[in-house]
Amino acid sequence: MKKYITVIGLEIHAELLTQTKVFCGCKNSFGGRVNGNCCPVCTGMPGTLPVLNSKAVELAIAAGLSFGCQITRHTLWDRKNYFYPDLAKAYQISQLYAPVCVGGGLEIGGRFISLTRIHLEEDAGKLVHSRGATLIDYNRAGVPLIEIVTEPDLRSADEAAEFVENVRRTLVYAGVSDGKMEQGSLRVDANVSIMLEGADKLGTRTEIKNLNSFKFIKKAVEFEVERQAGVLESGGRVIQETRRFDEASGETFSMRSKEDAQDYRYFPDPDILPLIISDCDIERISRDLPESPSKRFSRYIGYGVSATDAGVILENKAVADFYDACIRAGANPISALNAVKGELLRHFKPEGGDKIDVSPTDFVRALSLADSGEISGNGLKTAIRRMYAEGKPLDEIIKEEGLIIKEDSAAVRSAVLEVLNQNPKAVEQYKNGDVKVLSFFMGQCARLLKGAAHAKTIQEILLSELTAK
Ligand code: ADP
Ligand code: MG
Ligand code: ZN
Repeated sequence: MKKYITVIGLEIHAELLTQTKVFCGCKNSFGGRVNGNCCPVCTGMPGTLPVLNSKAVELAIAAGLSFGCQITRHTLWDRKNYFYPDLAKAYQISQLYAPVCVGGGLEIGGRFISLTRIHLEEDAGKLVHSRGATLIDYNRAGVPLIEIVTEPDLRSADEAAEFVENVRRTLVYAGVSDGKMEQGSLRVDANVSIMLEGADKLGTRTEIKNLNSFKFIKKAVEFEVERQAGVLESGGRVIQETRRFDEASGETFSMRSKEDAQDYRYFPDPDILPLIISDCDIERISRDLPESPSKRFSRYIGYGVSATDAGVILENKAVADFYDACIRAGANPISALNAVKGELLRHFKPEGGDKIDVSPTDFVRALSLADSGEISGNGLKTAIRRMYAEGKPLDEIIKEEGLIIKEDSAAVRSAVLEVLNQNPKAVEQYKNGDVKVLSFFMGQCARLLKGAAHAKTIQEILLSELTAK
């Protein structure tokens, strides 16, 4: 088979985290009673007029600034005309001629992927197919969306999935979108073509609609590349068309031949005024923008954290925010990393509300108590587990659990003797040269002492008692 290069350009739709919809006052929220968040505006009743939600524009600008885009100062709205039952007005308000952001991009794996533009638009409703009938839920109609369009810069299915992962993280960190792909807050159309190595023109592309997980993006692109190669190899020609990805079979199927912008009869929407975005708006939004995940990544690497561990911390914003709060509270970045990664993350459940209700000051104090040996390693684990699960102050947990080690060697000795007396067989094994049983003894003693002694002290007394036996 000839050597083909894969070329991918993405259109990423992200729903914005506004309280209300983009052109009316209806609630923008997922779930809820079917057709419960609707009004005459978002259901396209005659005589209604849209009023622009300025928060949606601010979030679109925040997205643009996060990707280093230029912000359009004089931005306009256009009607994209087509009929579909989920689009009651028979046109979608979108931006063709003066999108709110242009240019910019994101570096992944040392390659810069350019964005063409980011524009604002309204989402459509949702069709629900049920028992042979089709029902319509307009709760999503009018929810603000940004569409992020990339240049055809991506070169593999893996790279496309990784790019979307980075875009998603950037949007979530900036508070622009919740990025929940499983709820449809982030959906991807992948444009795919292949060309022979050394070709000076891109191949004919197909567009695969509505991919809603990283796995499906990868699978759909991989399938499409194979399919197109098959078509070319058998002497055929790839047809420019829109395709659907079937999750069950992992294959793509033709939906319709590709429509052109002119088929939509785009024209400026006469109901909405152009919007002037000032330097002052941009400065304010830029000032409020939190540090991006890629900047945080570099900062963590600067602390001596490995790339893998930095990824683990950044995976969830609540975790990264907590980690940073610990560092601000004076923690050593590496001990904080180990405690967060080794202990906190074992209990952390992102689906449980994305919150870490632990005082960073207490967390850092627990770390330094463990460092100085005032509480044991197990004691630190207990403290972290209970601070996270119960939100209790460290001092209360220390008191309740008796975590501060008071080196009472008499108590350690009596615990050691108790363990040895209860396990004569293991003692026999040890005498016969089986040193493996030591860790069993250590564990038993630690359990009896509930963390109230240093491992080192236990080991010393244990060894001396064993020798004495
Ligand atoms: P449309 O609005 O019809 O979808 P655009 O010109 O906006 O068309 O392009 C949409 C996407 O297709 C962009 O992400 C672009 O990078 C990508 N694209 C364009 N040509 C190709 C190609 N030959 N192969 C792969 N992707 C392409
Ligand atoms: Mg398109
Ligand atoms: Zn409404």
